[in-house]
Amino acid sequence: MILRNGFDLKKYIRTIPDYPKPGILFRDITTLLSDLHGFRAAVDELCWPFLKDQIDFVAGIEARGFILGGAVAHTLGRGFIPIRKKGKLPYRTIGQDYTLEYGVDTIEVHEDAMKKGDRILLIDDLIATGGTAAAATDLIRKSGSVVVAAAFVIDLPELKGAEILRKKGVKVHTLVEFDGH
Ligand code: AMP
Repeated sequence: MILRNGFDLKKYIRTIPDYPKPGILFRDITTLLSDLHGFRAAVDELCWPFLKDQIDFVAGIEARGFILGGAVAHTLGRGFIPIRKKGKLPYRTIGQDYTLEYGVDTIEVHEDAMKKGDRILLIDDLIATGGTAAAATDLIRKSGSVVVAAAFVIDLPELKGAEILRKKGVKVHTLVEFDGH
């Protein structure tokens, strides 16, 4: 997507073939984050649909969702909540299991991070199968909070993650698309 100011976000995302395993095209955003224009453009574009929405917290998914989510929270003037892999948070947590290609993983949030009725904007760098974001949505809902929307820099539409999330009743905002996995 060419942004309204003519900025081509896609050019700043590096693709690394066969990482972390053969057949995967890893979409590396470190090259976007290290560019002063790229980082700002990405964060601005993630934020703009939500400038007038009622949002209480921005939640980011470990790990790249922390970098983008932190910047989005700061830009929107909201607090930030980390959603982490199992065992990483120091206080009491609630968790949500989700299925990976091989096996099961768990994400967690502090049990007092959000409360009933809080309105959450969910952020990650990329949506592929949607498994991670769907689990984060379930986790937020388990806390009694509302997922206002989920926003990602990158969508891999062939994997249909955004579609799955929309079917769960979540508004999805993405900035650029790449073919394949
Ligand atoms: P999924 O749960 O399949 O939607 O995967 C999304 C999570 O895995 C995100 O946190 C991404 O950072 C990471 N991820 C999945 N596929 C890729 C990819 N091709 N390149 C970079 N990160 C990926």
